Amino acid sequence: SSYSRIAAVTGGNKGIGLACVRQLALQYPRSSFNNGPLLIYLTARNKERGEKALQEILEDAQLKEAKALCKDGGLSDVRYLPLDIDSQDSIQQFASHIKQEHPEGIDILINNASVAMDGFNAEVVKKTLHCNYYGTLEATKLLLPHIRDGGRVVNVASVAGLIDSRYSGPIRKRFLNATKTEEITALMEEFTTAVEKNEYEANWPGAAYKVSKAGVIGMTKTIAADNARTGSKTLINSCHPGYVNTDMTKGRGHKTPDEGAQTPVLLALSDIKGSNGEYWSNEKIAAW
Ligand code: NDP
Repeated sequence: SSYSRIAAVTGGNKGIGLACVRQLALQYPRSSFNNGPLLIYLTARNKERGEKALQEILEDAQLKEAKALCKDGGLSDVRYLPLDIDSQDSIQQFASHIKQEHPEGIDILINNASVAMDGFNAEVVKKTLHCNYYGTLEATKLLLPHIRDGGRVVNVASVAGLIDSRYSGPIRKRFLNATKTEEITALMEEFTTAVEKNEYEANWPGAAYKVSKAGVIGMTKTIAADNARTGSKTLINSCHPGYVNTDMTKGRGHKTPDEGAQTPVLLALSDIKGSNGEYWSNEKIAAW
């Protein structure tokens, strides 16, 4: 392709995801990643919402300026592609598109898409884990082979994913000591079963989103370690974006989406001193 760098953002049609697209485009020219024109895929599960967001990005005056600031004179660009992380088919189709259009691979993947549902019951747990944990895991697994060595994967988790005293000691230990992704997935399965049987209270918080994000932080760590063992220099990290004013927080967040995009975009574009498998918050590595 005619682009030197390629990036993709999931859930790119609004909130922090859209701000990540915008901040990638704005910050790329001055980053050490600048190696010529950048193509960003703004992906979304809904075509109409995705294309509307793309229109907004393409009309942004600041971004029009940034477009021309790449090394070698070429122009950066943003395109929409469908991607629903709840659907393995959709992830597969996106991966096929990437393989076909960019056989050399892409450089940046920001896994930002997730849901936060109201209420707590087995149905909410299943849907939340299906998207936030299994969907993010699947996207990471299927797209990692198409990420060029030295690239970046950023999983947007949350401070809610910290392993606190709402988990029992044995569960906490299993999260924190996991070295294989299957161990994290097993914890997600156990949580689901415990909620189905209404036997979760001794070991688990009654909070689907919280457990799904613990899973994202955990699997980021295990996948990053696996990937490093293959000799790859791609860096895979998770982060908390801060408490951000978006539809998810229903206007209660205190950061703007652009501020919320700072840590994810730093993990995509900056010199992070080889950080791999770490959880970041406030632009720094933080304890899980
Ligand atoms: P929003 O609800 O504003 O946006 C969520 C985005 O994810 C939307 O684009 C949504 O698309 C998309 N999405 C949901 N399900 C899927 C799916 N199956 N496939 C593809 N896209 C999907 O949330 P935020 O911008 O606030 O959140 C972004 C990320 O930041 C999330 O991972 C969230 O958990 C995390 N986070 C946010 C915090 C905050 O304070 N806002 C704090 C901590 C973490 P659609 O429009 O189609 O629904």
